[in-house]
Amino acid sequence: MDETTPMLRQYLEIKKQYPGTLLMFRLGDFYELFNEDAIVGARELQITLTARQKDSKNPIPMCGVPHHAAANYIAKLVRKGHRVAICEQAEPAGKGTKLVRREVVRVITPGTAIEPQLLENKESVYLASVCPDVETVGASLMELSTGEFIATQFSGSDRWTRVRELLEAYSPREVIFPSRSGEELSAHVEGSARRRSVLPGSAVDDRGGGPDTPFALTALENGDFDISEGTVLLCSHFGTRSLSGFGLDGKHGAIRAAAGCLRYAQFTQKATADHISEIRYFETSDSLVLDQLTLRNLDIVQSRAEGIKQTLLDVIDETVTGMGGRLLRGWLLRPSLKRSEIETRLAAVDELLDPILREKVRFLLRQVSDLERLVGRLNLGSVTARDLNSLAGSLEQTPKLVGAISDARSLLLQVLSENIFELPDVRELIATAIVDEPPANLTDGGTIRDGFNSELDELRSIAGGAKRLIADFEEKERQRTGISNLRIRFNNVFGYYIEVSRSNASKVPEDYHRRQTLTNAERFTTPQLKEWEDKVLGAEARMAELESELFQKIQNKVKEETHRLQTTARALATLDALAALAETASRRNYVRPVLHDGDEIEIKNGRHPVVEAFIDEGVFIPNDVYLNNSTDRLLIVTGANMGGKSTVLRQVALIQILAQIGSFVPASSARLPIVDRIWTRVGASDDLASGRSTFMVEMTETAAILHNATPRSLVLLDEIGRGTSTFDGLSIAWAVAEYLHDSPKHAAKTIFATHYHELTELAENLAGAKNYQMTATERDGEVVFLHKLQKGTATKSYGIAVARLAGLPGSVLARAKDVLAKLEKYELAVFSDDRSHGLRAAATRSNIAQVSLFAVNNESAVDELRNVDLDRLTAEESKEILTNLKQKII
Ligand code: ATP
Repeated sequence: MDETTPMLRQYLEIKKQYPGTLLMFRLGDFYELFNEDAIVGARELQITLTARQKDSKNPIPMCGVPHHAAANYIAKLVRKGHRVAICEQAEPAGKGTKLVRREVVRVITPGTAIEPQLLENKESVYLASVCPDVETVGASLMELSTGEFIATQFSGSDRWTRVRELLEAYSPREVIFPSRSGEELSAHVEGSARRRSVLPGSAVDDRGGGPDTPFALTALENGDFDISEGTVLLCSHFGTRSLSGFGLDGKHGAIRAAAGCLRYAQFTQKATADHISEIRYFETSDSLVLDQLTLRNLDIVQSRAEGIKQTLLDVIDETVTGMGGRLLRGWLLRPSLKRSEIETRLAAVDELLDPILREKVRFLLRQVSDLERLVGRLNLGSVTARDLNSLAGSLEQTPKLVGAISDARSLLLQVLSENIFELPDVRELIATAIVDEPPANLTDGGTIRDGFNSELDELRSIAGGAKRLIADFEEKERQRTGISNLRIRFNNVFGYYIEVSRSNASKVPEDYHRRQTLTNAERFTTPQLKEWEDKVLGAEARMAELESELFQKIQNKVKEETHRLQTTARALATLDALAALAETASRRNYVRPVLHDGDEIEIKNGRHPVVEAFIDEGVFIPNDVYLNNSTDRLLIVTGANMGGKSTVLRQVALIQILAQIGSFVPASSARLPIVDRIWTRVGASDDLASGRSTFMVEMTETAAILHNATPRSLVLLDEIGRGTSTFDGLSIAWAVAEYLHDSPKHAAKTIFATHYHELTELAENLAGAKNYQMTATERDGEVVFLHKLQKGTATKSYGIAVARLAGLPGSVLARAKDVLAKLEKYELAVFSDDRSHGLRAAATRSNIAQVSLFAVNNESAVDELRNVDLDRLTAEESKEILTNLKQKII
């Protein structure tokens, strides 16, 4: 780049300090991008790429966006995984040619965004930090908009698996790591990363990634994760002498990761971020692990069907505040493993079933704003006067909310009532200081209420007085000059002026001084008008300064209450989530599950919460399910296509998850243990993006279960083994089922839905296996689904009947029936009686099935062969028969 102009030199200087970011450089009313940044920006934002110094030998690529619309453009870039550094003019543009000082005021990255354009009301945005050491990996998560900050560490050979599970459970938008660990990160987590960017001093290159993967990967300087500097940083941030109060004593991995997170937050925000007021050490074993695939297969928060809102969260989310919505979402993604915690929530939900209490609580909560994020903005310097008014409005509701639940019987509601603060001083301060409807920007003036500050009142009366005098002057001048359309106007260039149309120019008195001539009008001023103008402008400049000072003071005062405001916000969020669960339970007729320390899952009249919600009322057929770790640990479910196998499988998982978040469940009764993991695998699901075939995906997923399931896990396998030939698939399905039944370490409660009817023979040999079928029947050639789970084995899959429902052409259906009849005719008898006889029979059938299509066409040849009496044949005759047969077959 041509460095000749001082402005470009300044640009390059700043750009050097922010590598790996797109630098948006404020020039007057625009943010400009230059060079490589401009090329990327123009492409991503689909705006015109132009050039500076166009006619020189080295034109500089450039593109820009107007500052008033910048927020949306920035959001677009960050959503695509870029990091954007915002460089502002740090002083007002002076007269003359002096270069304005500029500095970066914020770096906006996917994981540290607090801009409303980048936040969903009911979704948290996590920044994750991963710091590998010789034998441990430290990890930390931060939600900058609310100040949530947690850390943990993993050791042992499966530590990277745990890291991946952690990332899946929190879905961070960005993962930071020390640049020295680039290789390890690539090997272990990059599969799911989107983009890699680099900060100063980093040795890692920008390598980019696929556009659809969930998070950006950012390498930071190794020093940012240094243990001693990190400890000092965290202690000084929290104002403590050590980190033991946070449970971080000796947890070096966790401390390193947390320090990296905090440093990055401060670096990007250019603020101390005081609302991050504590850090918590946590163990991932505190919550039920639901990996990405299970979350997706069960439609927990995201629907598999694009564009259709049919998730468990949609069904149960009756929260009325953003913070309550985020909490409920978090509960669903990470259900609890602590029985006491679940029971206290269940008791609170039970109490909130009282319609009067619940309606009152929800009515009051509706008037509470997102206090959590508001406190975040307050501490990151982006709070507005309107925010403070909503804060005061929310605080008006808190005494009423405390009143509503202070007599509650349940422990959790009692605890919540003690954690909701009224903070009358804060409320009072805001009410007396800020007008009811403040302008959107502080600089527009008029934010501070009259009577709050005497100097401001005085300035306002001076400015107001002068404005009134100017208005009176206008009327007087109209009469004096006889010019009825004489106007006194104001603009930023000329200040106040008298405007007279050209046609009245002759009537203009001599004491007017001409300022400007337009096509249709003339503009004038007078010494008197100038004097009043100085008064107005002088007072207004000071007013703006003073309002900004006062607003800062009010903010500081409110900030002092950060801790109590956060405690209140969290209590209100919890109350909202509990009231939502009670609302769902009452609306949808859910019951309180009974948790126990045994191993039985006993669900009576269970329903699938999502299917039930989206089909007509009263149509859903409830089902009973029973599982334990001894006699009923492997259920094999067969039945017609469309019979409801997948539905019943999933509903067991969903009921278990709902119970472990402390929700009531869709059943007439449910006795449930606490399970440590739920695995759900669906055969034949593609993952083309990852470059793995359908079958490979299926097997990789199955392997993960077999290695990690425990007797406390619940495993749901839906048609595993379908993605390959019948023979291979069935053999694998068979072996997997046996393993999950027999393995001392990995025998989990398992439900296996399958169309391999041969698998039902397992139940005859395995002590803990039971056969179930989803019933269906045929009436007048039509299949009728009963959707009822019963003991026993289905004999048919009704595939052709379902194909008819799907609209396959009649001729194809007729041919399929024909082929089926012939295949069935040629099926051979089952033999052997050992444990695998079914498998061998299946193998035989399978082989026949695979050659049968060929055989059907050679029916007469086969019949002839069957009739040959081998004992009586001479060599001659054999040869003749063979020759004959050879001619017949096609
Ligand atoms: P396939 O073997 O073809 O995959 P499946 O047996 O797994 O089929 P599901 O996908 O569970 O069948 O169910 C098919 C449809 O039947 C569901 O989308 C739902 O609309 C309906 N259904 C399933 N179970 C029930 C039920 N218990 N009550 C009412 N309708 C149900």
